[in-house]
Amino acid sequence: MRRNGKSSTLLIVGVLCTLLVGSMAYVYTAPMFERVPPTISMEADIEWNLKEPIFATIKDNSGLRSFKATLRDGENSVVLDTKVFSVPQETVDLNLSFPKTGFGAGKKVFELSIEAQDASRWNFFEGNRAVVKSILKVDTKRPELAIINSSYKIMKGGVASVIFKAHDEAMKSLYIETSFGKKFYPTPFYKEGYYIALVAWPTQVNSFSASVVAQDRAGNVSRSNIPYFLQDRKYRLSTIALQDTFLDGKIADLIAEMAPERSTLSRLEKFKFVNETMREGNEAAILKATSVVPTSLIHEFTFKPFYPLRNGKVVASFGDHRFYEYDKQPVSESHHLGLDLASNAQAPMQTSNDGVVVFARENGIYGNNIIINHGLGVYSLYGHCSSYMVKEGDVVKAGDSIAKTGVTGLALGDHLHFGMYVQGVDVRPEEWMDAVWLKESIFSVIDAAKKTIDR
Ligand SMILES: [Zn+2]
Repeated sequence: MRRNGKSSTLLIVGVLCTLLVGSMAYVYTAPMFERVPPTISMEADIEWNLKEPIFATIKDNSGLRSFKATLRDGENSVVLDTKVFSVPQETVDLNLSFPKTGFGAGKKVFELSIEAQDASRWNFFEGNRAVVKSILKVDTKRPELAIINSSYKIMKGGVASVIFKAHDEAMKSLYIETSFGKKFYPTPFYKEGYYIALVAWPTQVNSFSASVVAQDRAGNVSRSNIPYFLQDRKYRLSTIALQDTFLDGKIADLIAEMAPERSTLSRLEKFKFVNETMREGNEAAILKATSVVPTSLIHEFTFKPFYPLRNGKVVASFGDHRFYEYDKQPVSESHHLGLDLASNAQAPMQTSNDGVVVFARENGIYGNNIIINHGLGVYSLYGHCSSYMVKEGDVVKAGDSIAKTGVTGLALGDHLHFGMYVQGVDVRPEEWMDAVWLKESIFSVIDAAKKTIDR
């Protein structure tokens, strides 16, 4: 009996131990006792203009039970928002506004704290708690912004310059906003706080306006319109009747070479594929290669008028809007984004300015295609080359031969397709071949701006 009594006590203790360990294990692993505190996402240092709300997000897997957002000015505090949820929430987005009660008047620095508690039973049914704090610096001052000088005019399809001063302790973004959605970016110029940019008016956009925009981290914005005189320009419209010799020759060859999987298309579908789909891809590659703008300080921008092909005759103009017909039916259209120049077959072409070769490869309708970066967002492009004399990454000097003319890509006769680009926009090459335009639109603007800055 004694033995039995002892062993039954042991048995009871054993069962109790097992239950205890089991329930501890249950508590430790059960979802309702999870031990992960809520995550609170909010910027640690916030510049605040007191107008825009402050955003924060609180998340918790087992659900949020409550939160409280408190603003302190060093002496007093005010609760901006607080809630207790009867149904635990997985995600809560906060939009915190500055109180309109006169709280913290004249204070420049505040502390914002957000505390949150989840619906877990852990921590003796209290739940897991999280607190996040951030420092708010009040900044209600707009960035300083002034246009120092700009070109007098901009022509449709052409380029203009602007030099401006912009300053803010916490500048976030600086750009030129246009009426057609494109943003141009400036390069630091001459002395700290000054910037230069070239802007372009695309041929296919009817009206143009541009403003410099400066925005600080607190969301204060300054905006200044650039007062250009607008010079309209008509670009040529032409209708081209497609010939079978062309469709069965050059177009069929391009398909066979660059898109053999399309060889079953009809001759007209092949043309549409080359003129529309292939062209779009080729122009996207050019846009990508010509969109980089320097961000380190420049003191000068010197540029010689372009003269890429000796004794080159103009055989097609920039900006031509071409409509194609087959059997007197309209079938497709295109815009010619460069100037076609022809001299002898396989004539050497030169870069008239220093630069870096950023593109030297086959590019669909452009054939063997070279693009050179000349700085300040300015690029020159050479299409239909028969051979390359440079490769990507090469540094070229003014006067260097870079390639020979040819018929690669969508070219009938041997010629050079010469293009100029400013921050990805195709622009009139004629301006960049014109010493008077360069002086009036860029060099004089720079010289006069430097005098103003030095005063
Ligand atoms: Zn061309």
